[in-house]
Amino acid sequence: MKKITIIGGGIGGLTLAIVLKQNGMEVEIYEQAEAFKKAGSGINLAMNAMQVFKRLGIYDDVVSAAYHTTKMNARTKSLDLLIRADFKKYEDEFKVKQVAIDRTSLHKVLLQHAEGITIHMNKTIREIVESGNGIELYFEDGSKSEASVVIGADGIHSKVRASLFPESKLRDAKQACWRGIAKMDIPKAFSGELNELWGVGKRFGFVPISDQEIYWFAVLTKQKGRSRGEDLKTEFEHFAPIVQTVISNTTPEEILFNEIWDLKPIPQWYRGNVCLMGDAAHATTPNLGQGACQAIESALVLGNALKEEQSVTAAFEKYQGIRKEKANYVTNTSWRFGKIAQCDKSMMCNIRNMLIKATPQSMSEKQSRRLIELNF
Ligand SMILES: Cc1cc2nc3c(=O)[nH]c(=O)nc-3n(C[C@H](O)[C@H](O)[C@H](O)COP(=O)(O)OP(=O)(O)OC[C@H]3O[C@@H](n4cnc5c(N)ncnc54)[C@H](O)[C@@H]3O)c2cc1C
Repeated sequence: MKKITIIGGGIGGLTLAIVLKQNGMEVEIYEQAEAFKKAGSGINLAMNAMQVFKRLGIYDDVVSAAYHTTKMNARTKSLDLLIRADFKKYEDEFKVKQVAIDRTSLHKVLLQHAEGITIHMNKTIREIVESGNGIELYFEDGSKSEASVVIGADGIHSKVRASLFPESKLRDAKQACWRGIAKMDIPKAFSGELNELWGVGKRFGFVPISDQEIYWFAVLTKQKGRSRGEDLKTEFEHFAPIVQTVISNTTPEEILFNEIWDLKPIPQWYRGNVCLMGDAAHATTPNLGQGACQAIESALVLGNALKEEQSVTAAFEKYQGIRKEKANYVTNTSWRFGKIAQCDKSMMCNIRNMLIKATPQSMSEKQSRRLIELNF
């Protein structure tokens, strides 16, 4: 197989590079950032992603840099339990842990395992053009390069996807999200738990990522005038006191702000010798905490298909065949879940809470299992 050129050195691109390196293949990455900087937020890695890391031999390093999450709880704003997922039985079955980790630490582990791979930093792709002899890469700095096989791992706003499938559409979830890392001791009651508190048109989630750090996210249903400068303490003043404590222990300048979008599932992930992976192919809203986990799954499947198949087309076809159904399931389920969790009518929220409380354990277990299980 020819040299593989990856556009984007995010979680997906780096994981793919590691798979290709382990498969003895030639690989290079083009990344727009000048340097990998402090990320300023955490990330939940569910057991599907952790099984992939185990197969790649990097599981122990990820676990050492992360914090073990044993339970996930949806609660009311005053902390009454709505539903709980206890991960113990899945841990026993799948032999991995769910963790929460500082994104900077995850990147560090991935970079360590990608050692030796050429990463061209400060190279922003503007456009790719397939020509008779190969693929031409045009960069924002005016330079040009050539490649034989290109993987677009350049995120939700992928330029590779725009070159390939300009008709693909991003969807505005009409939600605004703030994220931060609070430096504080972890209250015993919340140790090892991912908690999400649901109010009316607002949600607050938090999970420890180390003995003295809590990663948190706040989501507001977007209305006109919502902006980066939102006063979160006022917005969440009627939530349980832990929310105020967490926000107060975060350096305000380090709080990240995003609008939430996803990619409407696209029918095809590849054309010719160019293929999409991670958010570029299947960006989802973050409601299930699965975007990066899906990118990690895709990386292993694509990297192995490129080794096992005789032709690039056969590899891309195999990868898409294995991955598309689950990735689309996650995108669509997460979209619907976000609408329910972010409901902004008080009466509807009361009904929502009652229904969630009454959800049979077997139903939520079925959904967890569908996310955790790998079909490859
Ligand atoms: C608020 C929020 C919370 C989330 N929480 C979770 C969670 O708990 N668990 C989870 O699994 N997922 C979560 N996600 C999703 C997760 O962040 C993404 O799915 C994941 O980062 C996708 O990885 P990727 O490598 O495909 O893309 P990205 O992480 O976006 O990486 C793309 C890379 O490409 C580079 N790039 C972009 N454009 C160009 C260009 N033109 N030329 C060259 N390089 C380029 C970027 O600099 C970047 O390094 C969350 C997302 C959000 C918004």
